Amino acid sequence: MKTMLPPSLLKIYGALVAFFVVLGGWLAIDLQQGYEKVLTDTADRAMQRSQIINQSFRIQILAADYVLRDLLGRIQASDLVHPDNDQEHLQRMTMLLKEKADTIPDFFSMVFFNQDCVFTATASGKNTGVRSKIELCEARKRHTGPGPLASYVPGTKTASGRSALVLSRHIRSPAGDFQGGVLGVIELARAQHWFDALRLESGDSIALLDNEQVLLARRPLLPETLEKRVTTFEIPAALLHATTALETSVVPQRDMDGRERLMGFSKIEGFPFIVAYGIDKAQATQGWQQRAIELTVGYCILLLLATLIAHSHLTTLRQRDALRASEEHFRMLAENMADIVWRVDAQMHFTYVNAADQRTRGFLPQEVIGTHVRDNLTPQGQGMLEDMFREGREIEASNLRGIPLKYELPMRHKDAGEIWIEMSSVPIYASDGTIKGYQGVGRDVSGRRQYENHLLQSHQKLENQLTEAVEEKSVLQEMVIRDGLTSLYNRRYLDTTLPRELAHAEREGKPLAIIMLDLDHFKKINDQYGHAAGDTVLVALAELLKKGARDSDFIYRYGGEEFVAIMPNMSADQALERVESWRMRLKRMRVTAGEFQISVTLSAGIAVFPEHGRTANVLLTRADEMLYQSKAAGRNRISVYAQM
Ligand code: GH3
Ligand code: MG
Ligand code: MG
Repeated sequence: MKTMLPPSLLKIYGALVAFFVVLGGWLAIDLQQGYEKVLTDTADRAMQRSQIINQSFRIQILAADYVLRDLLGRIQASDLVHPDNDQEHLQRMTMLLKEKADTIPDFFSMVFFNQDCVFTATASGKNTGVRSKIELCEARKRHTGPGPLASYVPGTKTASGRSALVLSRHIRSPAGDFQGGVLGVIELARAQHWFDALRLESGDSIALLDNEQVLLARRPLLPETLEKRVTTFEIPAALLHATTALETSVVPQRDMDGRERLMGFSKIEGFPFIVAYGIDKAQATQGWQQRAIELTVGYCILLLLATLIAHSHLTTLRQRDALRASEEHFRMLAENMADIVWRVDAQMHFTYVNAADQRTRGFLPQEVIGTHVRDNLTPQGQGMLEDMFREGREIEASNLRGIPLKYELPMRHKDAGEIWIEMSSVPIYASDGTIKGYQGVGRDVSGRRQYENHLLQSHQKLENQLTEAVEEKSVLQEMVIRDGLTSLYNRRYLDTTLPRELAHAEREGKPLAIIMLDLDHFKKINDQYGHAAGDTVLVALAELLKKGARDSDFIYRYGGEEFVAIMPNMSADQALERVESWRMRLKRMRVTAGEFQISVTLSAGIAVFPEHGRTANVLLTRADEMLYQSKAAGRNRISVYAQM
């Protein structure tokens, strides 16, 4: 995504770029100027030093010149004769020279010479009669200035054969004719000593040259370069023919030892010698270099910092724009959703709700934003919120982070009091992992809950009704099949059970005994003790029969005081035995009814499936026939049907 910078920011960035351009330019100019200044200052310094050395050298020459002038003051042109036959005169001349030569230890030799440059006397007493080289002599004759004549004379031209600086003063006749003079010879090696005595900064060099740029002396000494024309640097032309001048070279020159130096040149006033002083360029510019490096590094660091800050600022802007775009997108989606979309900060204050909240709960967004979640819940909901927080904390502590928390909460409605909202909530994490808020969606579930409640109630009601019906049914069922007084099965139930039991016995191939019982002379009991006592007797007999029956047996109250027993899987003999035991027990029993002790007997008839009949009707009839037979035979007895 492309970030459009706001104009104010563009201005700031523009100003920043301009600042760096200006600063960089200023630094470059400043450094350049500094460099030039260092060179100029160094060249000036070189020139000053050259001048100082020049002065001290000149003083040496002038001192020598003073001696020469003094000598000339003590003689006449006529003293310069050769051969000098006057031994005394020659000796006096020689002594004069020797005396003066001793005052200047640098003089190697002192000589009087005549108009033909022939040596008339020498301090050493030797070499008289020697003639100077013709060009040297010519130069002396030509010299007209007020000062002495000084020149460098290579060894090839000197009488001693050693290179020297020769200083001479001449005598001229009033007409101006050359009449000879005096000369002093300073050996070049001596001049070198003068240099050696000077204090020199390390890296510096000094050189003494003549007008022809021939090196006469140098420090540091480079013996192979002495008395040769210097070719590595040029003496400024202005110096060569001037009597006195100073000149510097701001452009570094390559010196004889190969090092670059800033040179200061000075002409020794009145003499054809030039002093060249060189200051090592590398040493001179060291300070400037240091400063240049520091400034450049400082500038680069500043530039880098500014670039980094600008970059991070741009990145932040880009991220902010991206965030804003995504928030706008989120807001657009959220505003158009049917569900409530909300967001709270870490303190549970709403920071955002969409329009759906107003549609659902009636509150304007500005009424909700800034309020605590709790204040939007009913008291019941506030209690549930605590549970929700607890569950949220448990989820955070477990490794289930990010799982949405779902809850149904009763919230406040502006008009309707309460509305149930189904909430789904997830934490919003800060970059350091801490929770900076929560967001989620909510949906009105009041209608659904009402419907569910209604369904639940209906279901409950139905279930209750069903339970009641079942209970009623079994009571009714019992009522239908049981006799009210004795709780024995009734005659109707015999009609449904006997055919079923017969079918069962037939399937199993087992016998089934049917017994019919009747109390003897019961009417009399009723008459004698009352109907209620009769009932008690009936109940007592029912209990007796029940006790003597198996689980598989059925006992019915067949009529008023008539009973039927159906005994599956029982033969006639077994049935007889069973009924006999009933008869015996009843006979012995005294039924207590109020103050009465009642004794009673029974008569019975037995018919057995399948030997006495196969159907209910037949078998009941046959059992009844047997009962009648027992009554007829005198009562308190049992008859079993026997096939004819
Ligand atoms: P027997 O059978 O020995 O020939 O003489 P009996 O006196 O028992 O004669 P019958 O069987 O004909 O009489 C039955 C009497 O039983 C008639 C009736 O008053 C009485 N009875 C019938 N049902 C009830 C009852 O539910 N309660 C009482 N207390 N008496 C009943
Ligand atoms: Mg009867
Ligand atoms: Mg009877």
